[in-house]
Parts: sequence; C-alpha cells; structure tokens
Amino acid sequence: MDCIFCKIVNGELPSAKIYEDDHQVAFLDAFPATAGHALLVPKKHIVNIFDCDEELGRIIYPTLIKLSKAIRHAMGCTGLNIVQNNEAVAGQVVFHSHIHLIPRYDYDGIKIAVASKAQATPEVLAPIADKIMRAL
Ligand code: AMP
Ligand code: ZN
Repeated sequence: MDCIFCKIVNGELPSAKIYEDDHQVAFLDAFPATAGHALLVPKKHIVNIFDCDEELGRIIYPTLIKLSKAIRHAMGCTGLNIVQNNEAVAGQVVFHSHIHLIPRYDYDGIKIAVASKAQATPEVLAPIADKIMRAL
C-alpha cells in the first residue's frame, strides 16, 4: 500500500522515532508546528477515528498520556495540544490514522482554536444531544 505512515512503520522511510511497541509508534512531525511536535500512529493501517475500534483506543490513550508527560519534561513546554484530523474536511492530509501532540510555548504564535460562534440556546442543543445519544 502506498502509505507514507505504513512505510515509516515498516522502516521503509526514515523517521525521528520517540516511542514504539507492538501496536503503535510515535515519531516527530517532519513539518513541526513547534519544537517537539510528534505524531502517535497505530501500526495497523486504519484511516482515522471512524475506522478505529475501542480496543485500539484503550491501547492508544495511555501512550498519549505517557508521551505528553515526556514531551513536557524533555521540551519544557508550558502546554500541549492534542489534535486528530479526521477526513479531508477536518484537515486530514495523511490517510493513516494519527494523533498530533503539539507542545506549546509562551508566545509561540500558534493558534489552534475551536471557532466559537454565538452561544446556542438549550432548545437548539437538546435535540442535537438527543440525536447523538440515540446513535451511540
Ligand atoms: P494531518 O493533516 O493531520 O493528516 O497531518 C499529517 C502530518 O504528517 C503533517 O503534520 C505532516 O507534517 C506530517 N508528515 C507528513 N509526512 C511526514 C513524514 N514523512 N514524517 C513525519 N511527518 C510527516
Ligand atoms: Zn498506512
């Protein structure tokens, strides 16, 4: 499969690896938003969160915690954004699932913000919440 992250996982392409176990690998982003920007990637080729089973989720989250603490310790960042882009409309460019860990430094000039608009009323929120709950 012509997938750059599969190639990194298989060792066909180089990466600055920071973590590896049987299920996942983490390496530094080649186009870092900030110093220490890392990607946590399942070894199995899955496209994104919509393709992810809960078992893999249970494996990945503890690693995310471990890596976040290690990155803060090593890099001296003052904060960290965890971001996953799922599908092109959400900014996904590499279609092998990955989670960004982006260290944040005072005055780093990076903006990762959920664009808030006007406050929604309970009448608007309630049917949406209901619809999502019924889809679980
Ligand atoms: P996304 O927009 O969430 O799909 O992000 C893909 C990320 O992969 C981007 O931040 C790229 O900089 C990064 N990237 C692309 N190619 C490589 C590579 N060969 N090694 C490390 N990171 C890469
Ligand atoms: Zn892949």
